[in-house]
Amino acid sequence: MYSTPDQNPGAGAVAVAGDTPVFERTLLSPAPTTTPSPSPSPTSATITTTAAVGGGDFALPLSTTTDATPTATPTATPATTPATTTDTTSTATPAAPVEGADEGVTVRVLDGGSVREMSLGDYVAGATAAEMPPSFPEEALKAQAIAVRTLTLNNIEAAASGSGRHSGAGADICTSPSCCMAFKENAEVSNEVWAAVDATDGLAVLYDGKPILAAFCSAVNGRTRSSQEVWGGALDYLVSVESSEEGVTASGHGVGMSQYGARSMALDGADAVEILTHYYTGVEVGPFAEQ
Ligand SMILES: [Zn+2]
Repeated sequence: MYSTPDQNPGAGAVAVAGDTPVFERTLLSPAPTTTPSPSPSPTSATITTTAAVGGGDFALPLSTTTDATPTATPTATPATTPATTTDTTSTATPAAPVEGADEGVTVRVLDGGSVREMSLGDYVAGATAAEMPPSFPEEALKAQAIAVRTLTLNNIEAAASGSGRHSGAGADICTSPSCCMAFKENAEVSNEVWAAVDATDGLAVLYDGKPILAAFCSAVNGRTRSSQEVWGGALDYLVSVESSEEGVTASGHGVGMSQYGARSMALDGADAVEILTHYYTGVEVGPFAEQ
């Protein structure tokens, strides 16, 4: 997790240790012409080279009770089903998990000074548990698990090509929340999170058939921000969209899925696919193994 320095310096730290940023690497490969040029803004310059793209900040206070009281009034949440998402959400259908798919992928996790190998399922469970409270609604947890899985696959792909931020250490991803994603040991993972991981086994967010840079943040202020705005390079699926979350203050880089926005959508009846296709533009949620 991290925040832009001018936004919420207390909520997280901009990473300083990453070798090759996920975001920059992603830009370089498919669209060299969109490689960000040097910006006079120290904020974008710093983030372009060191950004961690995941992460939420659950020190955030909710205004009142949490999941037991979804909305204050019926009129308070119109933005969670905005007209702009009608086309996407109306055609979204729950994606079927691919049983055993996560077990077939090994993730090399840099943890402290050593590299631990574990299945994708075990990694996704640990990272999802560390990045979202288990009290969040089931569909929000499923969306989070899919986002974590997607971001991990994106990192594995980069590492395989030698451009991952932990390629030098022989790892795909690390356990530092200010660099990659936070991680909890599997023994600490709640049943709710395990259920969300199992229910989404093998599913990822895909753009042009590839796992996307599934950035997520804790909360935004009415709209998410584009990757262009925050990191200085455009990705078609990371553009600004509406987001409604109540009782929390914007926290994080503001790009991609808002976790509190996902919670709000889930409480309003959206499923994980609807949440993900809202926050990531023009994507599909489907089996990564078939790609
Ligand atoms: Zn890392």
